[in-house]
Amino acid sequence: MQLRTAFFLLLIFLTGVTPAFASEHYQEQIDHSENMVPLLGYRWDRDSIHVCIYKDQNVPNSYYVWAKLAVQDWRLALREYTDDQEAWNLNARFVKTEELMQDSCNVRIHIYDTYKDFAGYPDQTGAYTSATYNRGIVQSVDVYLSPKVLHGDGHTDIDLPAHAFRNSATHEMGHVLGLGHMAKIDGYLMSPQFDFWTHSKELPITSLELRTLVQAYGNDGFD
Ligand SMILES: [Zn+2]
Repeated sequence: MQLRTAFFLLLIFLTGVTPAFASEHYQEQIDHSENMVPLLGYRWDRDSIHVCIYKDQNVPNSYYVWAKLAVQDWRLALREYTDDQEAWNLNARFVKTEELMQDSCNVRIHIYDTYKDFAGYPDQTGAYTSATYNRGIVQSVDVYLSPKVLHGDGHTDIDLPAHAFRNSATHEMGHVLGLGHMAKIDGYLMSPQFDFWTHSKELPITSLELRTLVQAYGNDGFD
């Protein structure tokens, strides 16, 4: 018996899971109270999506890394789910100034010190996404993130714990790809809220979001 086979058999023995069936980059849908994610009425029609990430100088570098990981997580999950390592080209890069986020950036992620710097403030006081589209096809998207958001009481600033920021980065990227909000207020990745006291870590991308995207785009990428 080859060493590799022996290792897999040992893994099955120890965990009861066949490694070939375990997905690495997404989880199976956990909550079945809803079966589809509503769509926002726009979609991409291009081979690759270039995401540019700007952050204010005072925002620690880890927030940039988390935003970049959110982009990568969707790419890895879509590729694994559809078993296509060539499609779903979603790439993120750092840009030093907002002026550099011009034509070559399909998605512009702005990470500011505080929600008070958001383009949509004072209406927008938490992470949000704003898309420009024509006849249902996306032209560009802006995503606004900040480690500091406003509490629902309307006057208390909240410094988001890392897992809450990461959850909102992945959630907003879901909007970028065309996913809307679930009816259930909390518990799904695309629920409108994330209670970071009840959830000790960010919610995973699941087969629910991926199935919805594949129904919208087909099996072979964004174009
Ligand atoms: Zn949302």
